[in-house]
Amino acid sequence: MTVTLATVVVVISVFLRPSHAEWLGDTRTMMGTEVSVQVWHENVEEGMSVVEDIFTEVARIEGLMSTYIEGSEISKINRSAADGPVAAGDELLNLILRSLEISVLTHGAFDITYDSLGQHYDFRERRRPDAATIQEGLERIDYRLVEVDRLEGTVRFLEPGVRINLGGIAKGYTVERAVNLLRSRGFRHGIVTAGGDSRLLGDRRGQPFMVGIRDPRNEGEVVLTIPLEDEAISTSGDYERYFEEDGKRYHHIIQPTTGEPAGGVRSATIIGPDAVLTDALSTAVFVLGVDRGLRLIATLPDYEGIVIDAEGRLFYSDGLQPPEPEPAE
Ligand code: ADP
Ligand code: MG
Repeated sequence: MTVTLATVVVVISVFLRPSHAEWLGDTRTMMGTEVSVQVWHENVEEGMSVVEDIFTEVARIEGLMSTYIEGSEISKINRSAADGPVAAGDELLNLILRSLEISVLTHGAFDITYDSLGQHYDFRERRRPDAATIQEGLERIDYRLVEVDRLEGTVRFLEPGVRINLGGIAKGYTVERAVNLLRSRGFRHGIVTAGGDSRLLGDRRGQPFMVGIRDPRNEGEVVLTIPLEDEAISTSGDYERYFEEDGKRYHHIIQPTTGEPAGGVRSATIIGPDAVLTDALSTAVFVLGVDRGLRLIATLPDYEGIVIDAEGRLFYSDGLQPPEPEPAE
């Protein structure tokens, strides 16, 4: 009977079919940067469907948190929170609260109200605020001007002119969410990257992932490669978005005390278990500079850092001292 034969053929082909386990993924331009997802799958369809679901999730988060999207929750807050409490969903409220906590932890180096002034920089158009605008904007850079009412589910700004921007934390949040999604579907090996933020799930099948830290002054070059498993790694650099004018580099990481791009550092890399924190800390350590930045990292047991200063020298946190050179024969 043909039906039986067909059934047998299907059953045999299922048994004989190689599992086709392999790496699978994609890279797309989202959140103003490159977002890449790579997963090790045992089944092509499941692998492809989780990759697609992750990109859908990235788009959803961007729709909540991007200041470039008029209808995003954050844009609504920026438009009206100085006039009174604005309702927002738990997810955004939680990330704002987390950001405010990190401001306390970093002594104000990480501050989402940087955008009260930061909005006047445009790195593509080579636009920067004049002295008067800086003066005025500086008074509105203060995380204490943001009030979150957890019970009411609202955000309010205590002064007009305040703006918030999650550019220093949203990508870390996104890759952390993405890896949680992978884990919840039973995947055990993967890597999700958004710009300078990567979250690793497991290892590279028996080998650690090798993650390179970019050379801040030679595009395409790497200064250091670190073996990592099951961790997050975030780098903030002065080479991502910048323009030069009269020999000065105007880049996208703002020192909240001056309203100018933070000096003294070319890049700050943080490694640790939570990409939300590695992202925010990489921005904060960039602002704090080598000494204060690495001293802060020393207080956080699970976190390590590598800072490249304005002369190109590398500095490591205590738990990450470079290996001793091999003794000469
Ligand atoms: P990227 O991966 O885009 O390089 P970073 O983690 O380096 O991101 O953070 C830079 C972004 O953080 C800026 O583009 C801006 O949106 C935001 N930002 C700049 N200065 C600060 C600051 N002092 N505190 C918090 N966020 C900041
Ligand atoms: Mg960051």
